[in-house]
Amino acid sequence: MAKRILLVEDEPGLQLTLSDRLRSEGYAVETASDGDTGYERATEETFDLIILDIMLPGKNGFDVCRDLRQAGRTQPILMLTARDQVADKVVGLKLGADDYLTKPFENIELLARVEALLRRSVASVTSHSTDFYEFGNVSVNFRKSEVMLSGKPVDFSAREFQLLRYFIENRESLLSRDELLNNVWGYDVTPSTRTVDVHIARLRQKIEANPKYPMHILTVHGMGYKFIG
Ligand code: CA
Repeated sequence: MAKRILLVEDEPGLQLTLSDRLRSEGYAVETASDGDTGYERATEETFDLIILDIMLPGKNGFDVCRDLRQAGRTQPILMLTARDQVADKVVGLKLGADDYLTKPFENIELLARVEALLRRSVASVTSHSTDFYEFGNVSVNFRKSEVMLSGKPVDFSAREFQLLRYFIENRESLLSRDELLNNVWGYDVTPSTRTVDVHIARLRQKIEANPKYPMHILTVHGMGYKFIG
């Protein structure tokens, strides 16, 4: 199946050229011309990759990127900017973008980045295409942001849900506290790895049969956590 790419770019000429070029490479391309529409489409539909311009009408690319990460979207984001500023790059990457391209760029350069990002994210994209995930006595409905334990709904805060989602999407991978902070909390908290530990303890209370001897969210001493589902 063709990989789906969302291109959020307000310059009509560039939007057209880029989507034509990407389609000729076999990608399915959808477009949005402002930040709000881009955000809506990215949250309501499933994409394998998002190409996101920074200077956009409405929500700018930084905001869209941050909000998508906060909403638990983990697909790769490639940011585009007209400004050749290191500051932009730093901000973009901090907000959860995966790569960065400065305009003007060669199409071949864009295609190379897109290909590399898609290759890197094969594992998480696969899990993204399903709306449900089950492990042990727990079933997770991503579309409704609902968690059921033995058929009964469990109260989850938005952050706890994002954390669980991130674990599921990266199951069996060792995740450091820093990685969890970056990907689940983003830039807008005082970075404290203690925050992660507190949330993990709460998650365990909610989903582990015996939180003292977790079977799913495992501690890897001195390294971080690993989710086994
Ligand atoms: Ca623009």
